[in-house]
Amino acid sequence: MAQEPGRALIVGAGLAALRGAEALRAAGFSGPLTIVGDEPHPPYDRPPLSKHVLTGAIPADATTLPGVGGLAADWQLGSAALRLDRQARMVGLADGRTLPYDRLLIATGTRARPWPNPHEGRLAGVFTLRGRDDAAALRQALAAGPKHVLVIGGGFIGCEVASLCRQLGLPVTLVEPGPTPLARVLGRTVGAFIGAIHEGHGVALRCGSEVEWLEAEDGRLTRAHLVDGSSLATDVAVVALGAVRNTEWLDGAGLSADSGGVDCDARGHVLDTEGRPDPHIAAAGDVARFPHPIYDGRRVALEHWSHAVAQGIHAGRLLAGAEPESPYDALPTFWSTQGDLVVKSAGLTEGADAVAITQGDPAAGRFVALYGRAGRCIAAVSVDSARWLPAHAELIAARAPFPPRGAATDRPNGVAIFEPGFA
Ligand SMILES: Cc1cc2nc3c(=O)[nH]c(=O)nc-3n(C[C@H](O)[C@H](O)[C@H](O)COP(=O)(O)OP(=O)(O)OC[C@H]3O[C@@H](n4cnc5c(N)ncnc54)[C@H](O)[C@@H]3O)c2cc1C
Repeated sequence: MAQEPGRALIVGAGLAALRGAEALRAAGFSGPLTIVGDEPHPPYDRPPLSKHVLTGAIPADATTLPGVGGLAADWQLGSAALRLDRQARMVGLADGRTLPYDRLLIATGTRARPWPNPHEGRLAGVFTLRGRDDAAALRQALAAGPKHVLVIGGGFIGCEVASLCRQLGLPVTLVEPGPTPLARVLGRTVGAFIGAIHEGHGVALRCGSEVEWLEAEDGRLTRAHLVDGSSLATDVAVVALGAVRNTEWLDGAGLSADSGGVDCDARGHVLDTEGRPDPHIAAAGDVARFPHPIYDGRRVALEHWSHAVAQGIHAGRLLAGAEPESPYDALPTFWSTQGDLVVKSAGLTEGADAVAITQGDPAAGRFVALYGRAGRCIAAVSVDSARWLPAHAELIAARAPFPPRGAATDRPNGVAIFEPGFA
């Protein structure tokens, strides 16, 4: 990397972009800095969109992230990047302009996976939830007192929306093709525990089922038809089918990128199709896929708020030339507020071959589950028991033996081990 400051460009004006820009400046980068975002809004916080914004506790436009105003940057909002030319070191925008760079941060995040039938996805009453405008529209629909809400997909966002509907006193059905809510991320053992808590709060669960098509009258949703031939009347549907990474604009740039993210090396530089790092470009946040040292270098792409912050800072420092001595290795952490329930996690459950309840009791709605793989602790999930999570995070970071042999557990005489239930 040349010592001249040159020009820095950040594409994607979200959380990782903002924290990356701040870190770039804090590390002494004094050249021109441009931040390009396709949304018209300055960077805002997404977690409240499926929580306090939907209850009406805060308006969607009150989510702007702290730090936006104090940053010396040229904001180009409402401008999508359409292409990257690495030879010319230019990014082309949808409005025809090109922006040169010497240091580029890719932070274009993800978008909500749309309902597969575009016509049905556009019906009045059908929503996805990713951005501030989505949340404002869904809040309006929920505040109008719909007769019934259908949540399609039992991942974190689906569970948050369903439980929040119950808090608002709305009848809600959650349809999930897997055996339990959250089965893909937490396995069906822990998913069943959490599902039972939601059922206890009045969420109607239809697991092992799928919505096939949505019926409308005069362009407004009236009914959802399930693959088993049944149907249910509903006037609001929230499509919560996960996220798609925003990498299309990188097509043709010679980078190793696909719908699963843009590949980086352990330090955060993006890789070309031959696996060579590009020293002028880093990636951070939801869009980045990188080898995680705690997981034997396995490539992961995370959709976690704390990761977007930590990797954004890491990438900003990397691009400023303040070379981090070690690879990016922050332990993944996540939280999800589902009605009154606070679910927190540390580590990654993927590949777990066993799970132990180390604290509390699932039947009482408060517990910690510790996941193991090949005899090592790899992840922990707390349900309304967050104070126990740091002790579990230490076990995971240390790759401590699983089962934990007395550490971080209220069962010194041995914990019961379950099949985690990943498909
Ligand atoms: C509703 C909701 C609730 C959440 N709740 C939690 C939670 O409780 N806990 C938790 O840990 N995480 C949560 N998350 C996840 C967390 O918000 C994300 O991990 C985080 O926002 C990722 O930040 P990012 O900057 O990588 O991406 P994003 O926030 O997606 O920002 C990327 C930005 O780039 C823009 N962009 C995309 N393509 C282009 C382009 N070609 N040109 C210009 N701009 C582009 C996007 O429109 C977007 O504005 C939640 C996410 C959502 C949507």
